[in-house]
Amino acid sequence: MNLGIFDRRFKGSDPLPVMVVSMATIDSLIKVPRGLDLLIVGGGLAGLAAARVAAARGADWLLFEGSDTLGGRVGTDLVPDSETGEPFVIDRGFQVLLTSYPELEESGVLSSLPLGRFEPGANVRVTTRSKTRFHRALDVWRRPMSALTFDWRHVFSPGEAMALMRMRRDARNGNIESTRTTRDELVARGFSERALARFFVPFWGGVLLDRELAAPWSFTARLFDAFSRGDAAIPIGGMRALPAALATGLDPDRIVLRTKVQSVGQNHVILDTGARLVSGRVLVATDGDEASRLLPESIPTTRWRATTSCYYASQGPLPAPLDQRLLILDGDGLGPLHHLAPLSSLGPGFAPEGRGLVVASHDGVADPALEPALGAELRAWFPDTTWTLIAVRAIARGLPVIEREPTDFALPMPGLAVAGDHIADRSIDGALRSGRLAAQALFT
Ligand SMILES: Cc1cc2nc3c(=O)[nH]c(=O)nc-3n(C[C@H](O)[C@H](O)[C@H](O)COP(=O)(O)OP(=O)(O)OC[C@H]3O[C@@H](n4cnc5c(N)ncnc54)[C@H](O)[C@@H]3O)c2cc1C
Repeated sequence: MNLGIFDRRFKGSDPLPVMVVSMATIDSLIKVPRGLDLLIVGGGLAGLAAARVAAARGADWLLFEGSDTLGGRVGTDLVPDSETGEPFVIDRGFQVLLTSYPELEESGVLSSLPLGRFEPGANVRVTTRSKTRFHRALDVWRRPMSALTFDWRHVFSPGEAMALMRMRRDARNGNIESTRTTRDELVARGFSERALARFFVPFWGGVLLDRELAAPWSFTARLFDAFSRGDAAIPIGGMRALPAALATGLDPDRIVLRTKVQSVGQNHVILDTGARLVSGRVLVATDGDEASRLLPESIPTTRWRATTSCYYASQGPLPAPLDQRLLILDGDGLGPLHHLAPLSSLGPGFAPEGRGLVVASHDGVADPALEPALGAELRAWFPDTTWTLIAVRAIARGLPVIEREPTDFALPMPGLAVAGDHIADRSIDGALRSGRLAAQALFT
């Protein structure tokens, strides 16, 4: 029986988390259908977190992943430089982990990940009276000396600076009971359209992939709190290092790649090969689209937030202020380039020696045809640098729209759980927590 088994074995040192299940293992499962303890559908972060719970319990588990790699929406490609063949590290859409995410602590993988960390804050690009400047806006609580040099006037009024302080305190104290959208909450807290356009829309629009800031404030405030407690970071070598770290230590013979689950029931799954596997517990850890296809009665359909990320290399090192470990926000809001991240400034390993790498993003739309306009704006911002397009990643299914109160996981029927960011918080932390708690619930 062809189960679509991938023929590479995962090693801790392997940059790609790919694995093999021996044909003998699968054959024995199918020919002698014993009851497995847990079947996991999907090898994204939620599925991996669930597998770690099962492995820690010494359970008999299997994970099926439809694609050829683990990590789901957290993925990285190595794109060779056309001249030298040296790789650029290209994530599948710009994303960061926050070192304060409780689940990264819980999983214990954070300490094993060499990280490129952003400075807390941003460089805000603002044009006033036809003069364009980058205003370095660091988190003054964590970088107090920066208060002396940041010219707040171009981004926040003195009253708004105070409101920002109060908002930070409230988020840290968990005082986030508001039922407003993020935009409405910011307006209610006294922020002007100017402050929204210059800071909140490019920053939170980038985090939420939504420049309308329609996400509930309760969610954004939790992220704000996480930003205030830790660093935004990308593992050296790209975001795929996170799923690779989560998979380290898992028995590779229990992870089957390139094998899509066609349907699920209370105590079984049916693979796209037609094979039927029996288990006392089933955990659906797919994206929202697949979860509602597999369980249409229980899981509503997902609407998605999209984004387009274009990666450019500089000939030589990055120009100032891209040489700082700071995100650049477009405070003017006139062009397609919403924010720009200087990846190669985070540390060595993102770009070949002597080259710089940035990712220019446009949130809300997934369309590779945006590239020429994004490239033109980057070249207008930094006309003295020679830029080369390295890759375009148009991500239509970035983050699920929040339409219901997030919950950690769902249990549509006894022994069958659903986990993932379509149900829990729309974040790395939410997906990990959801997978972990769903697996724990199935075992209790
Ligand atoms: C562009 C972008 C930017 C982001 N930015 C951030 C950020 O900065 N910070 C942050 O915290 N989060 C960010 N996120 C969100 C974060 O990446 C996700 O919340 C998280 O990865 C979701 O994990 P998951 O396991 O729930 O789902 P997924 O990653 O979607 O994993 C589901 C897995 O199930 C597999 N699958 C689906 N159907 C089947 C089937 N029938 N059979 C077998 N396998 C199946 C899929 O192939 C996939 O591997 C971003 C996401 C994107 C795309």
